[in-house]
Amino acid sequence: MDHFLYRDGALFAEDVAVADIAAEVGTPFYVYSTATLLRHFRLFDAALEGMDHLVCYAMKANSNQAVLRTLAQAGAGMDVVSGGEYQRARAAGVPGERIVFSGVGKTQAEIRTALEGGIRQFNVESEPEMAVLDATARALGKVAPITIRVNPDVDAKTHAKIATGKSENKFGIPIARAREVYRMAAAMPGLEVVGIDVHIGSQLTDLEPYALAYGKVAELTEALRADGHVIRRLDLGGGLGIPYERSNADPPLPSDYGALVKRTLGHLGCEIEIEPGRLIAGNAGLMVSEVIYVKSGEGRDFLILDGAMNDLIRPAMYDAWHDIIPVVEPAAGVERAPIDVVGPVCESGDTFARQRMMPPLLAGDLVAFRSAGAYGAVMSSEYNSRPLIPEVLVHGDQFAVIRRRPTFDEMINRDTIPEWL
Ligand SMILES: *Cc1c(COP(=O)(O)O)cnc(C)c1O
Repeated sequence: MDHFLYRDGALFAEDVAVADIAAEVGTPFYVYSTATLLRHFRLFDAALEGMDHLVCYAMKANSNQAVLRTLAQAGAGMDVVSGGEYQRARAAGVPGERIVFSGVGKTQAEIRTALEGGIRQFNVESEPEMAVLDATARALGKVAPITIRVNPDVDAKTHAKIATGKSENKFGIPIARAREVYRMAAAMPGLEVVGIDVHIGSQLTDLEPYALAYGKVAELTEALRADGHVIRRLDLGGGLGIPYERSNADPPLPSDYGALVKRTLGHLGCEIEIEPGRLIAGNAGLMVSEVIYVKSGEGRDFLILDGAMNDLIRPAMYDAWHDIIPVVEPAAGVERAPIDVVGPVCESGDTFARQRMMPPLLAGDLVAFRSAGAYGAVMSSEYNSRPLIPEVLVHGDQFAVIRRRPTFDEMINRDTIPEWL
């Protein structure tokens, strides 16, 4: 559910007409709904009620300061995967004790920043990382709280680029080696083992892989406790999928997921952390774009938009589907026809949808890409020297630009010309 609905034939974001935002900020742009962000956060929070827990928003999905502040004020922690994300979380007002640090390639500088600034835990992904973390903590006179990310060798049944829990993926330590690695960690004075971490992938549309993975984590918890480790916290990752295609999707609900967590892990008495990103931000955002031309090709028509793959790369990168809807509601019963929806970038990959059934549209009309709040703006670039598009946050009947469009001068002046030229 989200807060992007038609009212009297016009698409609204909460109580603001999307066309009014377009008139003020120009197209293309992203628009996010505060109510939808909070609703999704609270669904997860409620799903884990009765268990000691913290929902750590995976901020790589959408790391705008205003989005982070909105969620932090509602009580969210943050899952960060870089020093930059750590700094962004702190700048948005998130205290270190609510930040967990994930990622396979944490540098010594990033580790030091987090140790000095305060951190809830590091999710350690390899033995070399563990050694660096130990040495860095000791050099600072600190003890780093850690979980070890285990790779449970479970098929998440998702797109290959976002599956992370198979043994061939680069993530975590093979679960079969976990007891040995925990023994090594316990012998390092710069580390304090607090729990176990697992994250098997993104856009999971079936709970079965979670059930398999969490069953293995439950067994491992008991084994590690028998070995003498204090396992008091389980970080269960993120990855719950969202319905990108409304007409043809039925992904699991956070409440079903919460029930699964209780069933598989509830008896262990651990504090639970989860790291949802996409499910919190995905359906809380639209990308709005204007039709530049409608072009008739040989047996194929093209809807050419002012938005492109550099603004929203998911279709090109992951073959992702986004529902595309007109900002002016089509009349009931209007005839739809297949059309390729494309951007202006000079690559055939700059195609948002092929042979999509769309109502008739004309140059100047606005369309909205649904489910664009996660892995949209954060993955955008200035390819083709197209400025990063603005982000707008709606709150009831108010809206604010939360990242403005840069000017061409700002873009050009980021480059410097060496003195020999
Ligand atoms: C990407 C990621 C997440 C969030 O995944 P979503 O599919 O957006 O929920 C959580 N944890 C880790 C470690 C990640 O890398």
